[in-house]
Amino acid sequence: MNLHEYQGKDILSSFGVRIQRGIVAQNAQEAVAAAKQLTDETGTSWHIIKAQVHAGGRGKGGGVKLAKSLQEVETIASQIIGMQLITPQTSAEGKKVHQVLVAEDVYYPGESETDEFYMSVLLNRGTGHNMIMYSTEGGMDIETVAEETPHLIFKEEIDPATGLLPFQARRIAFNLGLSGMAFKEMVKFVMALYKAYDKSDASLFEINPVLKTSDNKIMAVDAKVTIDDNALYRHKDYIDLRDIREENPIEVEAKEAGLNYVDLDGNVGCMVNGAGLAMATMDLIKQAGGEPANFLDVGGTADAERVEIAFRIILKDPNVKAILINIFGGIVRCDRVAQGIVDAYKNMGDAIKIPIIVRLQGTNADIAKELIDNSGLDVQSAVEFQEAADKVQAVLN
Ligand code: GDP
Ligand code: MN
Repeated sequence: MNLHEYQGKDILSSFGVRIQRGIVAQNAQEAVAAAKQLTDETGTSWHIIKAQVHAGGRGKGGGVKLAKSLQEVETIASQIIGMQLITPQTSAEGKKVHQVLVAEDVYYPGESETDEFYMSVLLNRGTGHNMIMYSTEGGMDIETVAEETPHLIFKEEIDPATGLLPFQARRIAFNLGLSGMAFKEMVKFVMALYKAYDKSDASLFEINPVLKTSDNKIMAVDAKVTIDDNALYRHKDYIDLRDIREENPIEVEAKEAGLNYVDLDGNVGCMVNGAGLAMATMDLIKQAGGEPANFLDVGGTADAERVEIAFRIILKDPNVKAILINIFGGIVRCDRVAQGIVDAYKNMGDAIKIPIIVRLQGTNADIAKELIDNSGLDVQSAVEFQEAADKVQAVLN
């Protein structure tokens, strides 16, 4: 589950990580009230207005703007709320902005310069460790830093059994070139950040930039947080943080129906039982020259009702030009699945206007093939994996 910046910052703050303070607002009026409150609480005279969408690079797309008066807060907030924000990380249509974070300006002038760092905590699947990735080159696109100046990216591996040790946090502060009070602040920051990551069962905490203010405080100015869905049962208070407006509507519907569905860019819809077989099916489609339109695991019980829901979900994607059903009948018999497919097809009337190729293997596969072949519907059966892929290719061409 991905979180908004303001939600991520709330979690950080609750674990003692210093953050740029802000208040979320749904409209320009609320934004002005939020700005006043922040001025009362922090003394800030300028505010930064930040679009809250699940995508990075908002600054580049015009979703982060500095307001130097309450009048500007109002103008900028009403400009940003409701806009279609296009950033390097969104699709070409962009994302609709429903709310903004009004935050204190923390780039105020002072005795020393501000400095922006990059820092993320994530799982390193290769080593089975957590990892803090950090760089002196904050505030900009980290992929570019990784490509052009990879030596400026540091990694600190953390054994989850011991957690982050103080000497590691000091090494990070040292590598970032800090000294004195900023050094101590960074050590505290990193220790608290790791704790937040660990205790919230996150799979990613990305803070870009981490700011050294001109008075040597270290704080999170941005926060991209992903919580591991599989751990959400341990964090009932996080469930409300989900913003389904930010998610793919077809994926949301599939999830509610208990289907494992991921939307992709291709034109061949896939309906498969089992994640492994689904992956193999997608590979095969690609190898035969096609592109999968989705990943869809219907799970163990492929009865008519489930097949119909799956059909409806696949057909919501206008790019789908053919559907490949690839089901292994182990626990569920192939003839029952075949009957399910035929029933679902008939139930849907003329909703299905594209060719369907069905490959059923396993118990009673021969009976299933007969059922499909004799159904009188625009459904082709295949026995071998390759045959199925070739038939898909043939109908696309
Ligand atoms: P992103 O573009 O989606 O990564 O959004 P960020 O939260 O990282 O903000 C983008 C940029 O806005 C930052 O890199 C900063 O340079 C700038 N910014 C953020 N907060 C402030 C602030 O308080 N004052 C000023 N002047 N700039 C800020
Ligand atoms: Mn950022």
